[in-house]
Order: sequence, then C-alpha cells, then structure tokens
Amino acid sequence: MIERTLAVAAVLVACGGSRPAAPARSAYDVEPTLIAGAFPTDRGPDGNSIILRAPRGLIVVDTGRHPVHTDKLVAFARHAGAPIAAIVNTHWHLDHSGGNARLRAAYPGAEIIATRAVEGALVGFFPKGRAQGDALIASGKATPQQIEDIQLGRAAIDDTRNLLPTRPITASHTIDIAGRPLDVHVAPFAATEADLWIYDAATRTVIAGDLVVAEVPFFDSGCPEGWRAALGEIAATPFVRLIPGHGEPMTREAFARWRAAFDALLDCAASPADAAACVAGWRTAAAAFIPTGDEDRIDQYTTYYLTEILRSPSAHERFCHPLRAE
Ligand SMILES: [Zn+2]
Repeated sequence: MIERTLAVAAVLVACGGSRPAAPARSAYDVEPTLIAGAFPTDRGPDGNSIILRAPRGLIVVDTGRHPVHTDKLVAFARHAGAPIAAIVNTHWHLDHSGGNARLRAAYPGAEIIATRAVEGALVGFFPKGRAQGDALIASGKATPQQIEDIQLGRAAIDDTRNLLPTRPITASHTIDIAGRPLDVHVAPFAATEADLWIYDAATRTVIAGDLVVAEVPFFDSGCPEGWRAALGEIAATPFVRLIPGHGEPMTREAFARWRAAFDALLDCAASPADAAACVAGWRTAAAAFIPTGDEDRIDQYTTYYLTEILRSPSAHERFCHPLRAE
C-alpha cells in the first residue's frame, strides 16, 4: 500500500417453502470472483477484491481505494441482481478498506466484518500519514494523482463509521456471513496489528489479504515474526488456491515458493548482510512474482522496507505492539 507516498450469479436459492432444499451441490462450490486491484506507478494501489455468493446476498472481501475499483464491485452486484450483504476487510490499509463508504452508499445494509485493529490505526498511523500528505501538498511538489489519493485518504479516515467493524472479529473461528459459513482467522501482529484471512472450505480457497503480496510484502505496518507465523498457519490449511492481497492467484506450489522468498528476506534482514544483497536476494527468489519491467520499482520498495522496517528497532517497537498515538 505505501501510505507514505500519499503514499462473483444470482443470489442462491432461498430456503423456500415446504420443499426441502437440494443439499447436493452447493452453489458455494463456485469459485470466488476476483476483481483485481491495479498497482499503477503514479498512484497508490488498490488491493484485490473477492466476491463470494451467500444465501442473503454477496460477500465482498476488501473494497479497494479508488472509486474506479469500488464501482466495479457495485456494478457486479447490480448485474448479479444480488445485494452486497457484507464487507470483510482483511486489514485496515486504505487500499483494502477505503472503498467501504462508496460501497455502503449503494448498499447501506452491508455489515463490516473486521478486527478492531483499525482503532489503533485511527490514533497511531492514519494521523501521521495525514500529516505527511498535507506536507506534501503544501510543498507544491505533489502530482495531481498524489493530491487525489491524499484527499481520498483524508475522506476515508474522517468517515470512521465506514471503517470501524459493525461485527468485530477477535478470534479465529467459523462464522456465518449472510447465511454462508466461512472460516475466519485472526493473525496478530502480521501485516497489521490484527489481520483477518479466510479459508473457504467449499472451494478450498484461502483469501490471504496482504499476508501475501506477490511483488513484495508491504511492510508499512508489518511485524515480521508475527507475519512469518501467519504464513505457517495458512500453509497448514488444505487450500488449492490462494488469492493474495495484490497479484495473481497462487497454487500451493507457488505459495510455497513465495513463502520461501519471504523467509529468506527476513533471514537476510536479521543477518549482517549488505542491504543490497538482501534486495537482490528478494528479486531473485521472487522473480516469478515480479512483472517484467517492474524490477526497479520493486527494488526501491524492498530497500525502503529493509531499512525503515525490517532493520529498524523503533519500527519493531511500533508495529509488534498495539498501535498508539504518536
Ligand atoms: Zn494492500
């Protein structure tokens, strides 16, 4: 996400009347629909959004940042003729939750399911990012795209009603969302203070949020060791398909390669190796996940995360403990 630079058709058959519902093939067996997030060079990214069908409507996991992304979700629901019954935010980064308000303007009944980690972000992360954005605008050096992203961010963090969960998740368990059971998992101190990821047993799909970002893990608010542990818990599920927070869906094998690259990056960061060696190590180990032409930009991200987060005791102090006001 890089805050610093602003930084699935119809509703399933209702249970109807006296006739028993056919239990055999559940419509849940249909794979979730991915609305891919963009990662342009001149703006903040949009996270991937995933749409699942449920008896009482659609479940949307992550809502993007930019209206052009969120509007695709609304258009999907209108075309499907099904209301968006629930939003799940995997974490509070605005490229995953910034679209909540626009989506709920179209579907006011949509509940917001998330951990309470956003409460800490509202006092300990967003204000700092906001000040940085204001300073960038005041400097006269912001591009029109940056100004637009900064203004979108401000509007989102001022609208807490559309960021705070209406249904807070505090522990890992199977919950009913709009009539559909889903396994939700809470990962403490990972990409954020408490990330939420989903295992959908019906389709053997993991929806990972930013615990997996194909090109490079976005460590903006990351706690390395909690994150490493969360990847181990994902690996322990019998998934056949994993949808990352950014990038293409992964097979088990692809995820295993990505995870090995992640572990190697953390190990390198903890070693005396030169930063350049760690950055080159990620580029090589994660080469299959980095689009051709994007290598230099990814090197810049990796260098930043290595210096400012992975090797920073103060970042560890900040992000491996509950966020607080600064
Ligand atoms: Zn993201």
